Amino acid sequence: MRKTELQINLRNLEHNLSVIKSKTTSVIQAVVKANLYGLQLKQIIEILDSKVESYAVITLDEARDLRKLTKLPILLLQGVHENEDYKTVSEQELDFVLHSSWQIKSIDKFKLASNRLWLKVNTGMNRLGFSEQEFLENYNLMKNKNFRDIVVMSHLASSSDILNQQNQSQINTFDKITDGISSKKSLANSGALFNYPESHYDIVRTGIALYGGKYQEFGIKSISCLRSKIISIKKISRGETVGYDGMWRAKQDTHIAAIGIGYGDGFPYFSESFSVNINGNLYKTVGKINMDLITIDIGNEKKIKVGDWVELWGYETNLTELSQKFNSISYQLLTNISRRVAKNYLE
Ligand SMILES: *Cc1c(COP(=O)(O)O)cnc(C)c1O
Repeated sequence: MRKTELQINLRNLEHNLSVIKSKTTSVIQAVVKANLYGLQLKQIIEILDSKVESYAVITLDEARDLRKLTKLPILLLQGVHENEDYKTVSEQELDFVLHSSWQIKSIDKFKLASNRLWLKVNTGMNRLGFSEQEFLENYNLMKNKNFRDIVVMSHLASSSDILNQQNQSQINTFDKITDGISSKKSLANSGALFNYPESHYDIVRTGIALYGGKYQEFGIKSISCLRSKIISIKKISRGETVGYDGMWRAKQDTHIAAIGIGYGDGFPYFSESFSVNINGNLYKTVGKINMDLITIDIGNEKKIKVGDWVELWGYETNLTELSQKFNSISYQLLTNISRRVAKNYLE
């Protein structure tokens, strides 16, 4: 079996959940879209299930997979993508967002009395959600229908940036539009959990902070370690090149280690070198990443052997800093890791 794995530390997950809970008195919705930010559902849901109020996903397939693992509310964050979807929403007892009028057309045809409706208002992100007037019209319309409950929601565009004025302006707009509305309210994601306590309202929707992709400065820990064992060590001479297009040339005699992971596993494409960790020391990758391999200059270090682990990122790694080397963000680093990579769990 190929020794390439995303190892997941479930203790760090529990730690992150307790950090999150220490920051708010609101209940927590765990956002688990995109195959749980790439980390896979089962073991993590087992831990979250007794500690969160609900979950959020995007697609019906995600919701069906999750429904097999939990009885808690599951929210479709974009609501239905076609009106027929309400059939599944009803059968699977899913909560759903309404963000556009076309999603209301056939809503009366379906049994949705055990479902929570989340009415989304646009407060300035200008991505999804009703305008103030549409929102009030729809709220009054929906109030008289038979849903388990209505939650009023919106989303902040810049919550990770404590200095961005847009956040306060969105919070003020949300307050103004929902003034006098007695329904539950939800505005905050992970960034807002830490940076904007006044945005917490009733339900805080956290994703990336649970999984340690961001917010280490608030005590959050990375919960994943991406690693692969060395499958070959090759001696090469000064002047020889390594890999596709002969991009990298050895300035002196050295050794090249190869590990079995590449962009086919969802690792970001790179041609510039970056540092990986072998037995606690840092070494540079050489040449371009391949679909299934990465090559590393280990110099003349005799202690490194075939079978040693190479850590691409670990529990101490700041994923935001690492992602910047690939012109990416930590969310993408995590969600891109493909199903080909084994997911193993540290209890
Ligand atoms: C993805 C998502 C979240 C979670 O965001 P994080 O930054 O990962 O905490 C919350 N709300 C909505 C609407 C989202 O799409």
